[in-house]
Amino acid sequence: MPIYAYACAACGLQKDVMQKMSDAPLTVCPECGAESFSKQLTAAGFQLKGNGYYVTDFKGGNKLAPKVESAGSAPVVASPKV
Ligand SMILES: [Zn+2]
Repeated sequence: MPIYAYACAACGLQKDVMQKMSDAPLTVCPECGAESFSKQLTAAGFQLKGNGYYVTDFKGGNKLAPKVESAGSAPVVASPKV
């Protein structure tokens, strides 16, 4: 489980919080209760990879781009010599 460095802009508290990557980031400072608690991107040796990269509906019937499928399927020219 990755450890995130959090800091509070209100009281200056710095705290490392162990969270699952799927957990929502904390916003409320456990020390002063202000919503100034935010994740710092200074944790050494740990980088989020591909955060925000989502493959959405690529296979699942993307009706907004109906032509992609047919255009992508290679027009196979029958070539008996192969
Ligand atoms: Zn605070």
